[in-house]
Amino acid sequence: MGDPQGFLKNTVREVPKRRPVDLRLMDWKEVYEDFSKDTLRTQASRCMDCGIPFCHNGCPLGNLIPEWNDLVFKDRWRDSIDRLHATNNFPEFTGRLCPAPCEASCVLGINQDPVTIKQVEVEIIDKAFEEGWVTPVYPTHLTGKTVAVVGSGPAGLAAAQQLTRAGHTVTVFERADRIGGLLRYGIPEFKMEKRHIDRRLAQMEAEGTVFRTGVDVGVDISADELREQFDAVVLSGGATAWRDLPIEGRGLDGIYQAMEFLPHANRVQQGDFAAPPVSAEGKKVVIIGGGDTGADCLGTSHRQGAESVHQFEIMARPPEERATSTPWP
Ligand SMILES: Cc1cc2nc3c(=O)[nH]c(=O)nc-3n(C[C@H](O)[C@H](O)[C@H](O)COP(=O)(O)OP(=O)(O)OC[C@H]3O[C@@H](n4cnc5c(N)ncnc54)[C@H](O)[C@@H]3O)c2cc1C
Repeated sequence: MGDPQGFLKNTVREVPKRRPVDLRLMDWKEVYEDFSKDTLRTQASRCMDCGIPFCHNGCPLGNLIPEWNDLVFKDRWRDSIDRLHATNNFPEFTGRLCPAPCEASCVLGINQDPVTIKQVEVEIIDKAFEEGWVTPVYPTHLTGKTVAVVGSGPAGLAAAQQLTRAGHTVTVFERADRIGGLLRYGIPEFKMEKRHIDRRLAQMEAEGTVFRTGVDVGVDISADELREQFDAVVLSGGATAWRDLPIEGRGLDGIYQAMEFLPHANRVQQGDFAAPPVSAEGKKVVIIGGGDTGADCLGTSHRQGAESVHQFEIMARPPEERATSTPWP
């Protein structure tokens, strides 16, 4: 632990600023401004290296958070990415998208603002890519076994990477035209630019994972055929089914599910077409639901030039500050 008094000296939690609204509505780039490495080191020094780091439990991946906070504080970036990759295949995704239950579990959060764990995470991996430290990790031996992974969302990709590195010959089947699942076609560009997926896929391809897009397993190839051709099959097809709202008027024109709306905007950014078939441009938009997906529809509608946007949420408005009963801000 680099500075045992860090959390006493640096009581203010700092996070990156958002780009000005006027500016970010003019493009689809990510929302946050760059964060200085000096500020990040100070923030990392707030980690108390508690006797029982509850952030480990909060993180579903079991990320070794106090270890890489300490390494960042000590400017040992190369070591920090090794510790981060030890538990997390894709910190560039989680560092941008994860709702950070680690921060809700941070012991410092009991009487101060929690450590900016997610920011440290994303800065470590972004620097690692910049420095060229993210290189293919080859298996030490080949097992001769073959594995089919069905679905190329983050679950399928993580399984495929681990299995390839363990020496199996892995093929990922994806029914869509591109790899990435909801990272690619659900989550908007302004929340995570798709170049982050592409550079990770380049690493995976170099490691030997084979990707086959446009293959709908169960239609283009049967389950029996897969089981004949492969020693094992991983099912990581995600949810796909959306939650409907079967109320009067549901069938009227102009009412879309989020996933009938958002993928078009992503496809425009990918260069598939100039204008989306379903667009909020010039429309008075109502969004039902105020969670992540609703927020994505909000940002997308504004960027497409909606005339007005109203968003309805069934839950009470959450407090501005973290309340003791609800750890989320
Ligand atoms: C709009 C939106 C915003 C979100 N924002 C966030 C966020 O900010 N933070 C967060 O943590 N989570 C967020 N999520 C949730 C997150 O995207 C999902 O939890 C995650 O993508 C699930 O990963 P997965 O790999 O299980 O499935 P998916 O990402 O759904 O991937 C499954 C893949 O399997 C493919 N597939 C399915 N069946 C077949 C088949 N028979 N043959 C071939 N391929 C098949 C699908 O085409 C798909 O590409 C969001 C979800 C949505 C919809």
